Amino acid sequence: MIDPSSQARLTENWQAVQHDVDAATTAADRPAGSVTIIGVTKYVDAEMTLGLVHAGCRVLGENRPQVLWKKNEEVAFPDDVQWHLIGHLQRNKLRRSLPFHPMIHSVDSPRLLTAIVEEATAQQIPTKVLLEVNISGEEAKTGLKPQELRPMIESQLGSSDTDAVEIVGLMAMAGWGTDADAARQQFAATRELRDQLTQQTGAALPELSMGMSGDFAAAIAEGATMVRIGSRLFEGLLPPA
Ligand SMILES: *Cc1c(COP(=O)(O)O)cnc(C)c1O
Repeated sequence: MIDPSSQARLTENWQAVQHDVDAATTAADRPAGSVTIIGVTKYVDAEMTLGLVHAGCRVLGENRPQVLWKKNEEVAFPDDVQWHLIGHLQRNKLRRSLPFHPMIHSVDSPRLLTAIVEEATAQQIPTKVLLEVNISGEEAKTGLKPQELRPMIESQLGSSDTDAVEIVGLMAMAGWGTDADAARQQFAATRELRDQLTQQTGAALPELSMGMSGDFAAAIAEGATMVRIGSRLFEGLLPPA
């Protein structure tokens, strides 16, 4: 258990983030509740992660699968917690990760998608994934080139394993050091890419995972259905960076 003052601060932060996400949703003329907040817990230990759940956040994102496994050994999370894997994922980590029923946001190669299909089929665990697109075009960023997405979606639609893995949308991050306007343009480009892919392939692709602590309002304005928020939730609880 974390101490009561940390728990109180965590609850306050969670409520403030919910408030700001609601405000951004309303400002974008979108229905209340149409944006899911994923609490990104990579900065904190298992106890603090559980504290965030107790504050009310039931949807958690981890970057590294090993950390997801370890936290689940250290504390007992309620059954209704939904896990999201949002960082680069190695294929040899899938076997131990799928039993947590994660949504995988970071499919960044056809090989990884194939491996997820194989493992989800073998374990009979239906798995939802997002294709991570490198929308900023930066060499250093992970993610697929926009033109790589269509063949992956078409081959998945055409495969007999479609019930094992469903591509439900796209994930994107704004480039390093982009200002608010540039970030918003990249989020808009992600949405337009999704719309184009839907038209070309017939896949619904309803989910857009985009927006973090610093740019979630712009992402929501451009149609994000999931925002991945870490540092805002832990303000006042971490040693200064
Ligand atoms: C760390 C991280 C986040 C959260 O970022 P904050 O700026 O701390 O909100 C979101 N998405 C990914 C992929 C991350 O690695």
